[in-house]
Amino acid sequence: MRAEILCVGSELLLGQIIDTNAAYIATQLARAGIDLHRKQVVGDNLERIVDCIRGALSRSDTLVITGGLGPTTDDLTREAIATALGVPLEHQPDLEVGLRDFFAQRGITPGDTIMRQAYLPAGASAIPNTNGTAPGVQAETAEGRLVFAVPGVPKEMRAMIDLSVVPALLERMEGERSVIVSRVLRAYGVGESALAEPIEDILTTAENPTVAPLIYGNTEVHLRLTAKASSEGEAKQLLDGMEARIRARVGEHIFGIDDQTLGSVVLQKLREKGLSLGVAESLTGGMIDSLLTDIPGASQVFMGGVVAYTPDVKTAVLGVPAELIATEGVVNAATAAAMAEGVRRVTKAHIGLSTTGEAGPKPNTDAPVGTVFIGLCNGEKTETVQREFFGDRDIVRRRSSMAALDVLRRYLDSI
Ligand code: ATP
Ligand code: MG
Repeated sequence: MRAEILCVGSELLLGQIIDTNAAYIATQLARAGIDLHRKQVVGDNLERIVDCIRGALSRSDTLVITGGLGPTTDDLTREAIATALGVPLEHQPDLEVGLRDFFAQRGITPGDTIMRQAYLPAGASAIPNTNGTAPGVQAETAEGRLVFAVPGVPKEMRAMIDLSVVPALLERMEGERSVIVSRVLRAYGVGESALAEPIEDILTTAENPTVAPLIYGNTEVHLRLTAKASSEGEAKQLLDGMEARIRARVGEHIFGIDDQTLGSVVLQKLREKGLSLGVAESLTGGMIDSLLTDIPGASQVFMGGVVAYTPDVKTAVLGVPAELIATEGVVNAATAAAMAEGVRRVTKAHIGLSTTGEAGPKPNTDAPVGTVFIGLCNGEKTETVQREFFGDRDIVRRRSSMAALDVLRRYLDSI
């Protein structure tokens, strides 16, 4: 909320009194978290006061005026607010009764001009004065901008600011208070720029929600959507709309949102489709098994895994032909396929998934470091995918594990 202060009084303008009210008001506004953008001082001249009020209300959400609320003809604030808002001054019988009581209790007969204080701009309300006679004024423009007028007398001003003005502003901000909700769309199997390119226009122009791409943990690309709204429900709607727009263009790469992992998503899809899985791992050495068994309830669909690290185990446990390994080595599509088929048989699962590759740092096989074959067998056919990863041993192994799960995810999405 942006606020301005207007101090009314020729004495202030001429330097006969020093403006301490604005400093007080500024401090209290800052404490309430309200941004003060400007302060003006104007003399007791109707036209110029009106001009200041109009200017402030054209720029800011709130204007706090101090001074010029007294009963004499040079107290012009009430009239200036009415003129600036384009409304007449209206007599308030309640205020007149209050003023008459105030003087009666003190045995004073009020002068003729005192009842000027029983007038308010039409539509405005009076702010009670706990330390004097002049009521303050609270008004609102058609656009919902607030104008407060409080007396110049410091003691009266302070009480009204503390007891009425600041509480009213805080209440107003309560309604405006917004929630910020984020959602992360998680992608695997695509580079940051390849993911960003098809949605370039969204990334550069979207304001609510904003969309920001970032690389996560060496393996994933995330799109962080951040929405601002007056309620959580409204923010979620904005996020839903933006997520749908993004998925329409790059949806195949997005495997999940927020805390969903490739492992959890794959297990969920297997469960939905009533399928089970067995995994044979060479260079990933059990990482895929670990990514799956990290998730509670994995045993419903994950039958088990075989870490077939040496050629002999590949042959003895998974049935990879010894002559294939002898002639072609272990890093090739045929070995990946035989491993997937073998583990499917051994675990009695619907689907067999496998990895074989060269993790480095020094090649143990004929294949270059980073070469990986992934096999997937569904009992009817076996498919293999070749991938090349760059990075150290750990990164190659991690990426290979994720890649295998991603191959499975994409397969499950396609059936
Ligand atoms: P009153 O009923 O006394 O006329 P008012 O709301 O019309 O109150 P002013 O006439 O503008 O207020 O000022 C009354 C007195 O309050 C001034 O003579 C001065 O002593 C003090 N005052 C006014 N404005 C300020 C200010 N900005 N900073 C400090 N003191 C102020
Ligand atoms: Mg005065």
